[in-house]
Amino acid sequence: MEVLRPDWVFTAAGLRRDVAVCVDGDRIVGLLPAERQPDDVVRLPGRVLVPSLVNAHSHAFQRAFRGHVQWSEGDDDFWTWRKAMYGVANSLDPDGIEAISRLAFLEMAESGIGHVGEFHYLHHRPGGGRYDDPDELARRVICAALDVGIRITLLRVVYGRHSPGRPLERDQARFGDRDPVEALAAAERLAAHPDPRVTAGIAPHSVRAVPPEWLGELAQWDGVVHAHVAEQPAEVAGCFAEHGCSPLQAFGNAGLVGPGFSAVHLTHPSQGDLPYLRAAEGNVVACPTTEMDLGDGFLPVEARDLHVALGSDSHAAIDLLWEARTLELHARAMAGRRNVLSPPGERHGLAERLLRAATIDGSRSLGVDSEGIKVGAPADLCAIDLRRVAAVGMPALEAVVFAANPDWVSDVWVAGKRIVEEGRHPGRERIIREARAHLLR
Ligand SMILES: [Zn+2]
Repeated sequence: MEVLRPDWVFTAAGLRRDVAVCVDGDRIVGLLPAERQPDDVVRLPGRVLVPSLVNAHSHAFQRAFRGHVQWSEGDDDFWTWRKAMYGVANSLDPDGIEAISRLAFLEMAESGIGHVGEFHYLHHRPGGGRYDDPDELARRVICAALDVGIRITLLRVVYGRHSPGRPLERDQARFGDRDPVEALAAAERLAAHPDPRVTAGIAPHSVRAVPPEWLGELAQWDGVVHAHVAEQPAEVAGCFAEHGCSPLQAFGNAGLVGPGFSAVHLTHPSQGDLPYLRAAEGNVVACPTTEMDLGDGFLPVEARDLHVALGSDSHAAIDLLWEARTLELHARAMAGRRNVLSPPGERHGLAERLLRAATIDGSRSLGVDSEGIKVGAPADLCAIDLRRVAAVGMPALEAVVFAANPDWVSDVWVAGKRIVEEGRHPGRERIIREARAHLLR
């Protein structure tokens, strides 16, 4: 058993001082007050211990071209970015996909993330030919996550066409399924992975990429469902033309929207979408840094009282605490007032709320019922070092949410195993070396 003794612990009941966290195997087995702590504790001075962060929306391979789409080719928007992304998606072989994924997961681990929801749509060879193992690329990505030591929910994407009335184009052939049965069978095989750190869900890519007649069949999936929803106005307009309703409503009409459903982005919801998702107890996954990077827009202020998880999506940046504070800061910029998401009159309530978005709301979106740090919970922990000039004089939780960056993360545990120590993952040099050969130059 290991007894961790930071200066602060963000427990399921709020921030506590002078508490030690006892870890045995993969579980938290005790929270000990100062007078009951043994002598041989692992001291973590200046650190606040929080649940490890949850990145609910990732396309790991997109880490390959970070920084290479930050200059103009003329009239740049989401669709021109997508063209560049397709070029990368079709250039990577299985070794490249695994190496780049491992690099992305390394960066996630060192920034405090212990669980990723990987929205995975690279299934086949470029051109669409199947690998001998049809799940080859998904297994490579899972392997990368397990090598780094983080949990992964493989959200097996379902992709059937270019757009309404148009079949897959050549640069999308790698993503395509013949029918929903092929996709569901793959998700079921992946869900049977023997490692308890691996789970699976299905991800109808978007109403644009999934034929209407497939959606109803996908509703037989019993588990987590993620979909890109209303990311771009053109997608919403296309959905009204084809389905006569909004993208969220189209998923709902097919029976896909419930507590296990996550609407990724929802930057352009239609009238009625928000009350509908609220009543269905579904989730939103906001990805503010990517939504800024791609010019997607903002999650409306009124949507921010839903269950909101966070994702780093295209990995323009991997910094879940930045995503968390941006959820509030965008709301301030849009609403023209301060502390928009703060429970009124609740001291530290806003920082708690935003930290929960980066942790337990992310878990909920990935199908895990988490309350955070408590006895019996998985030992998924992240220590953040507040011994920084920028944190001087700040309350601990506000320092974590409004000032910290990935360099402040000192240690990360997943299922009781310390995968990052003193800010470094032991595989860092090897993982970077192997990824370099596949990064865009
Ligand atoms: Zn995405």
